[in-house]
Amino acid sequence: MARLGAHVSVAGGTHLAFERGRAIGCDALQIFVKNASRWKGKALSTDEIAAFRDEHAASGWPVIAHASYLINLGSPDEALQVKSVAALVDELERCDTLGVPGLVLHPGAHMGEGVEAGIDRVARALDRTAELLPEARARVLLENTAGQGSTLGSDFEELGAILARVDDPARLAVCFDSCHAFVAGYDLRDEDGYAAAFDALEGAVGLELLAAVHLNDAQQGLGSRRDRHATILAGEIGSDFFARIVHDDRFADLPMVLETPLGDDGLGHQRDLTTLRGL
Ligand SMILES: [Zn+2]
Ligand SMILES: [Zn+2]
Repeated sequence: MARLGAHVSVAGGTHLAFERGRAIGCDALQIFVKNASRWKGKALSTDEIAAFRDEHAASGWPVIAHASYLINLGSPDEALQVKSVAALVDELERCDTLGVPGLVLHPGAHMGEGVEAGIDRVARALDRTAELLPEARARVLLENTAGQGSTLGSDFEELGAILARVDDPARLAVCFDSCHAFVAGYDLRDEDGYAAAFDALEGAVGLELLAAVHLNDAQQGLGSRRDRHATILAGEIGSDFFARIVHDDRFADLPMVLETPLGDDGLGHQRDLTTLRGL
């Protein structure tokens, strides 16, 4: 079975994510490496870094980070581009400091300029990021998106196009989000749809580049392009998909993390992990 976990809060310090993860039954983690709704983050202290590295080593868990939602590498606005690259550089440096190997990033939105222009801007921004961090170890994990508005990456081919256009594709990999894929039009509900979706991902980017999975059910229907995550089995995707992916041998070593609603009692992820392990 896959390495199941959740996106866990880092309130009070990144190292505290492990204790929170253990309490709800995680076997993998996703965290923010800074406040995701602000441009600037507080510096990580030496003590926090050491505590995180100790906890990480003791856990044996695969850990990934998710980048700030403010970053838009596809923006035609020059100032926002510069700010976005600086923020991405900062987050990748934090990942390296903590020893986190992958940073999940929504590729960006073209804001009306068109898909081609947007893909090009994203590729050039990733090149600038790589130039500013020649020694970086953490990879950027491009996430497939729901396709709301002008966001790029709802079609796996767009992720493939970004990978094909950067100077050094070895700095990149991908993250698959089940809610986003479903609302973007990939019908994951039955065996044929599942096979077709991963064949499409294989064709567009190659499954060897799949580095992480977000397991989210979808509140809205197939092709709705509405990014609303649902509790596992409370949405539109259905149990067959989740049973299939958590037992798919090709993905057995990947972190598969929940970004589902926590619910009024805050225990949503714990319940979802129990659900997934029972499939
Ligand atoms: Zn996601
Ligand atoms: Zn989402």
